[in-house]
Amino acid sequence: MHGLEPSEDQRLLLEGVRRAAVQKIAPRAAQTDAQGRYDWEVTSLLWDLGLLSIMLPEEFGGWPQQTCHTLCLCVEEIAKVCASSALNLIIQAVGSFPLVHAGSPGQKARFLPRISQDRQLMGYLVTEPGAGSDVAAITTKAQRRGGSYVLEGRKVFATNGGVAGLYSVLAKTGPKEFSFFVVERGRPGLHIGKVEDKCGFRGSNTAEVILEGVEVPAENLLGQPGDGFLIAMADFDMSRPAVAALALGIAEGALEHTLRYANQRRTFGRALLDHQAISFMLADAAMNIEAGRGLMARAALTRDQGQRNTQLSSMAKCFCSDMAMAVTTDMVQILGGYGYIKDFPLERMFRDAKLTQIFEGANQIQRSIIAREIKKGIGAKS
Ligand SMILES: Cc1cc2nc3c(=O)[nH]c(=O)nc-3n(C[C@H](O)[C@H](O)[C@H](O)COP(=O)(O)OP(=O)(O)OC[C@H]3O[C@@H](n4cnc5c(N)ncnc54)[C@H](O)[C@@H]3O)c2cc1C
Repeated sequence: MHGLEPSEDQRLLLEGVRRAAVQKIAPRAAQTDAQGRYDWEVTSLLWDLGLLSIMLPEEFGGWPQQTCHTLCLCVEEIAKVCASSALNLIIQAVGSFPLVHAGSPGQKARFLPRISQDRQLMGYLVTEPGAGSDVAAITTKAQRRGGSYVLEGRKVFATNGGVAGLYSVLAKTGPKEFSFFVVERGRPGLHIGKVEDKCGFRGSNTAEVILEGVEVPAENLLGQPGDGFLIAMADFDMSRPAVAALALGIAEGALEHTLRYANQRRTFGRALLDHQAISFMLADAAMNIEAGRGLMARAALTRDQGQRNTQLSSMAKCFCSDMAMAVTTDMVQILGGYGYIKDFPLERMFRDAKLTQIFEGANQIQRSIIAREIKKGIGAKS
């Protein structure tokens, strides 16, 4: 068991990721955000670095042991300069999770090379117009017809929805039975609907995916009928520490930038940094980032050690995203007017931070989970 600090192997990996982030991703971040377009050049760089297959089994190009902690550290590093680019790593891990963890050897052999060799992106289709926080309210159906299933429904807010080649789709196979299917982009009846114009994460593709009588072979069902809900919950235990890392990276990027600015900007004869009110905001940011880093690492490492991390994952996701929102708000304040204009990256970071409080389970849902888990601890009925 290693501690909260990155191991030697992780440190080496992170050096390369940091270099690529600073030299190649950071210079594109503002333009990608302004244009609100998916950046395929960054995607290709992320493939080259091995970061879009990081959570696949090693024989399909993944990193040894597929550790959630390694994923988190890479996400954090990239999010310091561009949150949209960092989200690519998370959606690829989240989307491939049902295949990696519930797929049969045959399904893995059939689909995983499409990711690792053909460089196909993954989408994760759970949310619907009437079902976001309340996953059990989905209405997309998968009906058995001979050797096939026919999928009918509408999925919204899908990250990579318009750019993915493969989708993990949650559908109902019975009145109270939820199942995951892997669905290829080219299947007749699968249409990309509205591509969302968002407040932040404007370099990430978020789209509606419509399933109109999409027929897939029964072999595209992942696990047994009815396994879907448990797969989705297990996926959250991996993805929530990663969203914590995303938020953490945004906060760190905002603090780094603001420290430089506050050191050089002068008011009333001294550097901004030397006004106590400003230095206390910076101290609070540094302290909360450190606390978030510890929580994120604990959540990820607990999972990597094979222990249940549901409560820690919710804590990490909720704490880091609330912290990123508070830190970016304060850092915009420290830059004053310059924090509010697009010549500086702070306003983008502030917009990006907001999403981390909403997706992968909004923070009210995280607090409900934490409350449920701590109640269990005193033996109370939930
Ligand atoms: C940019 C973006 C990318 C996304 N990517 C994906 C993706 O790849 N795949 C996917 O499946 N989904 C994705 N989502 C969907 C996301 O996970 C949902 O938006 C989120 O779970 C919240 O659901 P909702 O928007 O329907 O809000 P609702 O469920 O309608 O909730 C609205 C508000 O009410 C609160 N609330 C709801 N129920 C309760 C309760 N019981 N107690 C207290 N408060 C409550 C919520 O916390 C929230 O603040 C994405 C969303 C966005 C915006």
